[in-house]
Amino acid sequence: ETKRYHANGWLAPRGGGMWKAGANYDWENLNSIPTEKGKEEVLSKLRTWLKEDDVPMEVIEHEAGVRPIIRNSRPLVGFHPEMPQVGFFNGLGSKGSLMAPAVAEHFAQYLCGECALDVDLALEGFQFRTPNTKLPMQSEGQMVNEVVKGSLIAKAHALLKAAIGPGDVVVDATLGNGHDTLFLTQCVGEEGTVIGFDVQEDALASTRERLDSAGVKSDVYQLYLKSHAELSEHVPQDVSAVMFNLGYLPGGDKTKITQWESTGKALRSALACLRKHGLLTVMCYPGHPGGDEEARAAKCLLDELQEEVCSVKCYQREGARDTTPFLLVAKKI
Ligand code: SAH
Repeated sequence: ETKRYHANGWLAPRGGGMWKAGANYDWENLNSIPTEKGKEEVLSKLRTWLKEDDVPMEVIEHEAGVRPIIRNSRPLVGFHPEMPQVGFFNGLGSKGSLMAPAVAEHFAQYLCGECALDVDLALEGFQFRTPNTKLPMQSEGQMVNEVVKGSLIAKAHALLKAAIGPGDVVVDATLGNGHDTLFLTQCVGEEGTVIGFDVQEDALASTRERLDSAGVKSDVYQLYLKSHAELSEHVPQDVSAVMFNLGYLPGGDKTKITQWESTGKALRSALACLRKHGLLTVMCYPGHPGGDEEARAAKCLLDELQEEVCSVKCYQREGARDTTPFLLVAKKI
């Protein structure tokens, strides 16, 4: 009764055999009105890891509230930059609150002048973002993380190779220089089809050249000089894989980057046309201007859709920071 449990949903002890359970990730209805739907969602999450026969549950109280989520789901502590008499200790969502005892102790030591404030917990340097309705709010990142030894692209290729068979139809949503396109043509073989999209002529040209010189027959691929936002108009149902490699064309114009407005739409369309157990891979680059928001939004979107539409994993290199690339892999349910 002194531990908190955090699996699919969470349980926090209240004493006397009572526990507080949560939570949902509804960012549309930001109010304190409890709903049956919200209650059922929390209960069904708990039932995925608590057997009712072993742990009988009874709901004795039900309340709703809005909790703040801050960068990396970590707490944020310190003093208001313009009102030094105002201190704050926040960011205690379901993940952040796991750190609350340790952070409280650290904050107390800092207040007593015993240590400097941990930069990871400080407001200083924190980038506030004005709410943008096009971006989903930052979620608490329930997805599974995995550390990868080699390159992330190699990881994506290995997973895709196992998911694609000869004769399959697959999609390269960002042709770039065509490395992934060539890889995909090798997976589907002569009977298969790779459908590719890019908004830059240069990308189509260099992809075609790469495929030609590798001896790939032209009836194996269809390349569109179109945005992947139009994916659903050109891609049939039940494809076995869709690859995204976000950011800019390597060696090309670095200002022509993928934009969340179209990427978000394309990711949803990609998931819609995937067959059962089909794979969606998304290479994200949070390190370049604009890439940060897009990468975070992609992660949030998949996080939001996981369980209902797909299962999702986030792969990162060892020692990854906020700015290092990561790979999202969603498997359609
Ligand atoms: N997969 C490539 C790298 C991709 S670079 C490789 O392995 O080399 C990202 C590409 O996305 C760029 O070529 C850029 O032109 C393209 N792009 C940007 N916005 C796009 C959109 N809306 N639809 C399709 N492609 C887009």
